[in-house]
Amino acid sequence: MKLSVLFEKAFAKRWIAGPGLDDALDLTRRLNARGLSAQINYLGEASRGKDRIKESVDVYLRIVREIKRNGLNADVALKLSEIGLDVSISFAKENYAKIVNAALKNGVFVWIDMEEHELVDDTLSIYGSFIKKGNVGLCIQSYLKRSEADLQKIVRSGGIVRLVKGAYMESKGISYREPLRTSNYLKLMDYLFIHSKKFMIATHDTNMIKTALSLNKKYKRKVTYAMLLGVRNKYAIELAKTERVSIYVPFGERWTKYAFRRLREASNLKLIIKSLIKEPVSKI
Ligand SMILES: Cc1cc2nc3c(=O)[nH]c(=O)nc-3n(C[C@H](O)[C@H](O)[C@H](O)COP(=O)(O)OP(=O)(O)OC[C@H]3O[C@@H](n4cnc5c(N)ncnc54)[C@H](O)[C@@H]3O)c2cc1C
Repeated sequence: MKLSVLFEKAFAKRWIAGPGLDDALDLTRRLNARGLSAQINYLGEASRGKDRIKESVDVYLRIVREIKRNGLNADVALKLSEIGLDVSISFAKENYAKIVNAALKNGVFVWIDMEEHELVDDTLSIYGSFIKKGNVGLCIQSYLKRSEADLQKIVRSGGIVRLVKGAYMESKGISYREPLRTSNYLKLMDYLFIHSKKFMIATHDTNMIKTALSLNKKYKRKVTYAMLLGVRNKYAIELAKTERVSIYVPFGERWTKYAFRRLREASNLKLIIKSLIKEPVSKI
């Protein structure tokens, strides 16, 4: 068997709903039935070809319509590099506007994922000009040294944040390594509880989630806890009995970069085996 096929069978299937939109919709229905919501993502970051970008935008427009038509409890999550940011900021903005406007008409919320640091300024600039629409949120990574200032600016402008630790390989000069990545997560989370009414705590780290749960006893914010498909989903299902929980549900054929980031995170063998045995998508 070719290595790529083996990889797909063993790993990618744990972290990805399947190749087609129907796979993501089916899984979302199953998550909804268990009391969890979804963030549906069409895989395909770093696209340059205009045909491919148009195809991605069309798929997102379909996702928005299907969420509404099927009455699903789901948001959309997209990467700006998938819809034109690697071509130009104005092209990405134009495509993002189409998706956000369609989502607004259909009552759907749109998250922007955060990518490599080179894209952060443009991503913040595009997000900033759509905050007033009210149905948009942005991911902020605690490992970037700049994130504290970025997060404060977004919250002051009325934006909605999904806080993550960060998944790309960034240099020491601009990013924190562990344990600072996690301590900065705590600091940014504190800021959100004090200054923001609604946000997303996206992590599989039990300590972070426990701290957030206890902070929310005091602040009573609208917090959604979010995890990735195939990572600690049993815990997510348990948590959903008392809290709002959302699962990030990627689908599509272009899964390599996404799956390799997950593989790098699960870099110890015990975690990989645990994720293979205990987290198959079919069990949701
Ligand atoms: C909903 C959601 C959206 C995200 N969006 C973005 C984004 O837009 N941009 C971005 O840079 N990053 C994003 N991420 C990824 C994030 O930045 C981290 O890389 C990832 O969540 C791992 O960090 P952690 O907070 O879970 O903490 P970690 O300290 O990395 O992990 C905590 C524990 O979680 C478990 N765990 C974590 N990863 C795995 C894995 N792959 N397999 C098995 N167990 C694992 C282990 O038990 C580990 O000890 C997102 C994550 C989530 C949950």
